[in-house]
This record gives sequence, structure tokens and C-alpha cells, in this order.
Amino acid sequence: MNSVRASAPQLEGLVPYDPKYLPAQAMLSANENPCDIDGALRDEVMRAVAEVAFNRYPDPLANELRDMIAEANGLSRDHVLVGNGGDELLFNLALAWGGPGRKLLNVPPTFSVYAANARLTGTEVVNVARGADFAIDEEAVIERLSRGDIDFAVLTSPNNPTGELASEEFIVRMLEASDALVLVDEAYFEFAGRTVVPLLAEHENLIILRTFSKAYSLAGVRLGYVMASPSVIRELIKVRQPYSVDAVSQAIARVVYANRAAFDPSIKAIVAERTRVFEELSKIPGVKAYPSDANYILFRVEEAASAWDYLYDRGVLIRDFSASAMLEGTLRVTIGTAEQNDAFLGSLRDFIDER
Ligand SMILES: *Cc1c(COP(=O)(O)O)cnc(C)c1O
Repeated sequence: MNSVRASAPQLEGLVPYDPKYLPAQAMLSANENPCDIDGALRDEVMRAVAEVAFNRYPDPLANELRDMIAEANGLSRDHVLVGNGGDELLFNLALAWGGPGRKLLNVPPTFSVYAANARLTGTEVVNVARGADFAIDEEAVIERLSRGDIDFAVLTSPNNPTGELASEEFIVRMLEASDALVLVDEAYFEFAGRTVVPLLAEHENLIILRTFSKAYSLAGVRLGYVMASPSVIRELIKVRQPYSVDAVSQAIARVVYANRAAFDPSIKAIVAERTRVFEELSKIPGVKAYPSDANYILFRVEEAASAWDYLYDRGVLIRDFSASAMLEGTLRVTIGTAEQNDAFLGSLRDFIDER
């Protein structure tokens, strides 16, 4: 038997992303919308899929969908790029703005994908850690950007997993501190109701990421998009896989985007449940919940890893960050239906009572 030579050196010691894909009665770990697309909208989606020519390559740039997204945001097509989930666009960003000898400014604790992509592309990560209660150290971020050697920066707003929005005033300061490309990741914007899209008109170095995976119930379909200046979009097009967004996903996304107003009631219900779950969590002795503008809540509890096991044994799957850097002792729960949230709250109360 022959052996195989080693893979690229940057892969050594790298641990693949593991979202703990486990079946459970209450799936509250991945920030999905608890309601699948159903009824008349599902019928319309299925009719659109039935018309897809499976033998033909898709429109590489998904221009019809690009136009719809552009129009809804007061932009033109050349400001928008669609990807196979937001994750593909994050990888494209690291390919286009990172690389050996280049630097990413990251504000941890945050979404782990940014640092993983930097590592894969040989990009140096400059961390400016959040402070007490995960507040951004704004002066430190601005000071670091002002030195002028950062190639791109990522700011998640609302931040995942900690939940809070960044202020628009601070984002403007970041954009004006240097010519670094600044990604504002608005994956949860529909739950926060605030966006920095108006800043695109004045700032060529701003790029905004969105996804269909969260509010729009399409995590299984893989569609995300970015909005930026045409000069930035052109560079991302150079590195992308030409056919990454398949024809079926494009067809589904067009129907869903055209009907996005239909998601307003479920978004409103999730936001109302978020308030309720936060209040209930805050009443449990020994639990500290962090306020959230998204569809999840990070909380601190003693023996967090045991609490995660206890909940999982009762059919409630949440996300365990208790062994993650800067998040020690925390768990994150996605806001689900009222019944799922009650199952979560009831099991957590039982765990605390039994200690
Ligand atoms: C979920 C998420 C994304 C994108 O998810 P996709 O399913 O790949 O579209 C991007 N950023 C953050 C912070 C997320 O939580």
C-alpha cells in the first residue's frame, strides 16, 4: 500500500467546523426559524422548482435574484452578489482580501467561521477582544485600524453568539479609520430591524452580509448575499465558483424573496418570545442571560456542560459554548416556538432545582 504525502501545511492541527448536528425534539441550536415554509407559499415554491431545467447550468450570477435584492435595497445589480449560503461569501472574502502577508481584524468572541477562513487562506488574524459583558472595545478597534496595516475587518451585528447590535456611529468610525474593507455581518438583521445599508452610498469600503438561512426559513437551501460597492463585488466575482448557486436554490429564493412580507408574523412572534424567554431566564437563580437583538440568547449557568447534557437528555438541543475561548460557562439557546421555549425553560429550571 502506498502512503500519501501531507496536505497543505495550514491544515495541520485544524479541527473541522462541527455544528453538533444531532436530532432532538426541540432543535434550538442553530438559530434557524422554527417554522418551515408551508401552505400556499410552499406550493408556489414547488411550482417554481417544477419549471427548473435540470439539464442546464444555472445563471452563474443569479441575476434575476440579484435584481430583486438590489431593488428592495435601493441599489443596482452590480452592488449585489449571491452565494451558496453566507458562508461561501465569507470564504470568498477571505480569498479576495486575505492571504499570506495580509491581516484580518476580528472582534471575538464572535462567529468562528471568520477566523477559520483566515487560517485556511494563510491570513493573519488580529484580535481586538470584547470586554466585560461582551461590549466592543471601540477605542481599541479604531486605534488598531488607524495604524493602516489591516486589510479587512469583520463586525457581526447583532453579534453571534452574544446577541447585541453595534452602534451605527461606531461602524462609521470604523469605515473612516482606514481604507480597510469592513464587513458588517447582518445575518440576523430581520430580528433586529436595523441595518447599515444607507451607509453604502458614502463608503466604498463597506460590505454587508445577509442570509436566507435564519428569518426566511431556508437554512436547508443555502443562499446568502452581500451588498457592497461595484468595485468590491468585482473582486469577489474573480474568486467565486462560477456555478455555486444552483438553479433550484435560485428558483426557491426568488419565490421566497418576492413573498418575504409573509415572514413578518413569524419574525414578530420570535421577537416577542425572545423578550419572554429573556425575562424567564433572568428569574432562574444562578442564570445570567445577555440581552439580544437576534433570534437567540446567550446565557451563563454554573456547570454549563452538565446543563447542556441534561437538556439534551430531555429532547432539547441547544448550543454549548462552555469550552470556547472567551465564552467559558455559556450556552446559547435559539428562540423557537412557544412550546419549544417552554420545554427549554422547564428543563433548565429542573436542572437548577436538582443541583
Ligand atoms: C448563520 C450565519 C451566517 C450565514 O449562514 P449561511 O447559512 O451560510 O447563510 C453568517 N454569519 C453569521 C454570524 C451567522 O450566524
